[in-house]
This record gives sequence, structure tokens and C-alpha cells, in this order.
Amino acid sequence: MKFDVMTLFPEMIQEACNYSILKRALDNEVFNINTINPRDYTLNKHKKVDDTPYGGGAGMVLMPQPYVDAYESIEKTGKSITIMLSPQGEQLNDALVNKLAEFDQVILMCGHYEGFDERIREIIKPREVSLGDFVLTGGELPALCLIDAVSRKIEGTLGKIESADEDSFSNGLIEYPHYTKPREYRGLEVPEVLLNGNHKEINEFRLQKSIERTKTKRPDLYEKWIKNN
Ligand code: SAM
Repeated sequence: MKFDVMTLFPEMIQEACNYSILKRALDNEVFNINTINPRDYTLNKHKKVDDTPYGGGAGMVLMPQPYVDAYESIEKTGKSITIMLSPQGEQLNDALVNKLAEFDQVILMCGHYEGFDERIREIIKPREVSLGDFVLTGGELPALCLIDAVSRKIEGTLGKIESADEDSFSNGLIEYPHYTKPREYRGLEVPEVLLNGNHKEINEFRLQKSIERTKTKRPDLYEKWIKNN
């Protein structure tokens, strides 16, 4: 799997992937991240990538030429998908993350300032993906969230002790509560059933807690789960 990230701020992507589980996976070549800076593709001597909007209004708009030329320089490999990070897109969720993990190449288009000249959308025709109904200053943080979530689904990223199978959403429910040492903290005890070594009982307890939590915290997911079970 290869992520090609189009960004005016490549250091943001490279630096954030330099820690913990992502760093280990990159060092082990479980997947790769390559950055492409549209500023390197400008044809003007000031390396300008944005300009004022026609029709007036606040902010600067990303110009089509540097972005489209940068996009066209990316070599497509295997099963490839292009995603524009955009607050106007479909919302990222676990189902989409699973689908994306099946691709050989994910090209991520990060916007900035007021966003993209509309012709970039018309020419490249990306799938638009949003992190949620709020507006960020740039596409780099959403791209990093997507890379992090998708990479967890690629075999080899998580070690033996870090499993994605029981995480929230994997079975349509949110995850059960976790406890670690000490057994008692400020008068709060770890539930007895987790200490008895009976895995059948532990699994039943955890499933029950998952169901209760989903019903309380995410009634929308609970309704879907009930219908399917
Ligand atoms: N003017 C645009 C609008 O209202 O739709 C917002 C532009 S935003 C300030 C700049 C860039 O940040 C976007 O082009 C996009 O790449 C990224 N971005 C901002 N919010 C986002 C979100 N919720 N999900 C994904 N990307 C987002």
C-alpha cells in the first residue's frame, strides 16, 4: 500500500508519521508515504499556488495549474483511488476505512486557504471525504487521520498485542470498558468477572457492556445493530 499525499506542507505529514506504531510500520515497509508539493509544479517565478477568488470574497483559492500538473506527475500503481479531503465530502467511517485498505495506492489531495479552484475537482474527479461537519485550516490533519485509520487495517501495522478486531465499530458496536492495574483505585474496583480467568464469562460480560454502552452513547448505531442481529 502506498499513500501519495498532495500537500503544500509535506513536513506536517512526514513529521506526524515519525512516531510510535506508524513509524514502526513505515520502517518495516508495511506501507509507504510519499508527499507531492504542488508548489514544485508552478510555472510562475514566484512559485505562487493560490490567488484571489473571481467574484470577490475572502481568502485565497488554490490555482488549477500547479495542482493538476502535480497530480498528473504521480505514477498510478495497481488498484488506485484519489481522495480529496473536503468538508463537503462523505464522512469518513469504519466501512470506508475498510474499503480503502483494499487499495494498492491512495492519493490524498489536501486543500488549504479557501480550498480548491472548482476546475481541479472537474479535471481530477476525486472522491471527496470529510472528517466531519466542521472546517479545518487545511487537509493535512484529515489526511493524517485517514492514513492512521487505514494503516491500522493493513496486516503488519499492528503488532500481536494491538488488535483492531475488537475495536469500536468492528462488530457494529462500540467497545467494552478496559481496566488495568491496580485492582482498586480510589475505591473503584475492577469488575470481579475480569479476574476469574473464565474466558466464556469474560466474553459475555464484554459483549453485554458493549451493547449497553452503544445503546446509551450511540443510539443510532444500536438501532442498526439490533436490526442486523
Ligand atoms: N471553503 C471551504 C468550504 O467551505 O467548503 C473550506 C476550505 S478549508 C478552510 C481548507 C481545506 O481544509 C479544504 O480544502 C480541505 O482540504 C481541508 N478541510 C477543512 N475541513 C475539512 C473537513 N472537515 N474534512 C476534510 N477536509 C477538511
